[in-house]
Amino acid sequence: MSDIESNMQKNIEHNFKKIMQAIEKHQLKNSISNTPVRLLAVTKTHTSSSIESAYAIGLRDFGENYVNEAVEKITFLNDKKNTPEAIWHFIGPLQSNKTRLIAKHFNWVHSVERLKIAQRLSEQRPSNFPPLHLCLQVNINNEDSKSGCAPSDALALALEIIHLPRVQLRGLMCIPAPLDTSAEPSTQRAPFHELAQLFNSIKAQLPSTHAQSFDTLSMGMSDDFELAIAEGSTLVRLGSALFGQRKF
Ligand SMILES: *Cc1c(COP(=O)(O)O)cnc(C)c1O
Repeated sequence: MSDIESNMQKNIEHNFKKIMQAIEKHQLKNSISNTPVRLLAVTKTHTSSSIESAYAIGLRDFGENYVNEAVEKITFLNDKKNTPEAIWHFIGPLQSNKTRLIAKHFNWVHSVERLKIAQRLSEQRPSNFPPLHLCLQVNINNEDSKSGCAPSDALALALEIIHLPRVQLRGLMCIPAPLDTSAEPSTQRAPFHELAQLFNSIKAQLPSTHAQSFDTLSMGMSDDFELAIAEGSTLVRLGSALFGQRKF
């Protein structure tokens, strides 16, 4: 390992420890179930060697936003064979001309917002692979964003997606508007609270076989993950908190 790589690994490890402490603190404070919160390392714009460093300290879930960049890194790392248990999550905007690559290279997709895309992912998932795990992205409290389905459409979409053969619906995801730190804590937490309520309501209305595997509330990023955990997040997606600021 070069000096630069070993420094990078030390930084990631330091950040990782701080994050795990913050996660534990917020879980305890709000006495949420003791299921551990899953930490998704968001590696967009970061190199394959940062991914290897994160893997070396024990991280297994990696999130990418851009298909071509991701497939390049995934293929490179698969060929190298030293990250065999890596789980790849697609979290970026979904275009229909990219679904085939996503269905082939990823284990999870968090950004499904239309039935058409879910159908394509199901059709294009190679038949010898396990089902692709999906989360529905919901546009909670973010008027500026055009991504995500309307909260009022989420149940109907979920009830369609569960019938697709090569995908498994695992939960909901949101990207709220950037945190307004001058607002009341309850206002800051509102989008996460709303997504958690929608999650519980959908889970209660799914047939029991599907309700059981509907277990993922993908919410919280570097600036707001503590708030999201306080509202019951089961998976936080962290980039800059783990790797430092992204360079473009
Ligand atoms: C980039 C990105 C993240 C990580 O953002 P940070 O603020 O760096 O933690 C999480 N989720 C999605 C969907 C992203 O695009």
